[in-house]
Amino acid sequence: MRTVDVIVVGGGPAGSSAAWRLKRSGADVLVLDKEAFARLKLCAGWITPEVVRDLEMDIASYPHRFLTFDKLHVHLKGLHLRIPCVQHSIRRFEFDAWLLERAGAPVVQHNVKRILQANGQYIIDDSFSCKYLIGAGGTRCPVYRSLFRDVNPRADQLQTATLEHEIEYEWQDPECHLWFFEQGLPGYAWYVPKQDGWLNVGLGGMATRLRSHGGKDLKHHWARFTSKLDRKLARGAQYHPEGYSYYVRGRLAAARIDNAFMTGDAAGLATRDMCEGIGPAVRSGLRAADAILDGNKPYRLDDVTGASLGGGLASRMLDWAFTRGAI
Ligand SMILES: Cc1cc2nc3c(=O)[nH]c(=O)nc-3n(C[C@H](O)[C@H](O)[C@H](O)COP(=O)(O)OP(=O)(O)OC[C@H]3O[C@@H](n4cnc5c(N)ncnc54)[C@H](O)[C@@H]3O)c2cc1C
Repeated sequence: MRTVDVIVVGGGPAGSSAAWRLKRSGADVLVLDKEAFARLKLCAGWITPEVVRDLEMDIASYPHRFLTFDKLHVHLKGLHLRIPCVQHSIRRFEFDAWLLERAGAPVVQHNVKRILQANGQYIIDDSFSCKYLIGAGGTRCPVYRSLFRDVNPRADQLQTATLEHEIEYEWQDPECHLWFFEQGLPGYAWYVPKQDGWLNVGLGGMATRLRSHGGKDLKHHWARFTSKLDRKLARGAQYHPEGYSYYVRGRLAAARIDNAFMTGDAAGLATRDMCEGIGPAVRSGLRAADAILDGNKPYRLDDVTGASLGGGLASRMLDWAFTRGAI
């Protein structure tokens, strides 16, 4: 049995952020992930300036693909809005591996299955034990399943459904485009270029709305969306899209129980307007670490916001679409 003070289950942005802060303060921390890094993570790889700040990233010395956009192109029912802002793109394949390595904590590849509590310790698969446990295993997190599911059942109406593919592609347009409610899609579609010839395209929406929207499934929307891209932005690109589902922010009855914490997608923290999950994952991982390092500090998610777009932009766009019957 390997015993440490803190075990982090999952080495994505939530887990690596927690491990990074804990390790920097000298804590005895171990990360368990079922995958060997670098690993594939379906994600558009859009990150905000808040993520860069929270992670104290020096962009100039980041060793992988990193692109900065000075505006977002928002397409809404034939309108084309150019919204000035600063946003970034990374490749998750590279970013997550870099973050985990930077955290400096030992990582063991292990698929966590069974978690028990005994004598003030969490025992994982009869092989690992710890006093503090951080659940950062994403949507299918075993910490959520074992310790939190009964108190925080997930609500169907907060579940997203997505399809995406990231390809090597010599894009011509280096800017980020978003299409809201395109051709009846109850959600949005994206074109997110990455530095040096990579491109992520995808679409998604709330699963219950997709099911109730005239029976059109994501594959139907995918075919229409990619043929539109083929006409202009991404001619000749070939895709093999994959799907993944996660949850946006709802009411959380408990983010901490005893010495166990829920973070990131495990807790369902993605923003409700844009389904942005990296920022909330990073911030919640840091807050869990803070609560462990300072035993008097409560684990609070107040500053993990549920909305991505400041200044009410998202709600203005939604109002616009609602009043025109687009959704
Ligand atoms: C198609 C798509 C596009 C998206 N685009 C964006 C975007 O552009 N920007 C954005 O901010 N968010 C985006 N998101 C959301 C974002 O990807 C997630 O919210 C974010 O990855 C959550 O991070 P996390 O660390 O909580 O979980 P994850 O990144 O999912 O990491 C969880 C880790 O836990 C490990 N794990 C799982 N089960 C076990 C187990 N049993 N034992 C051990 N380890 C385990 C996994 O291998 C994984 O490494 C997107 C999501 C999808 C699906």
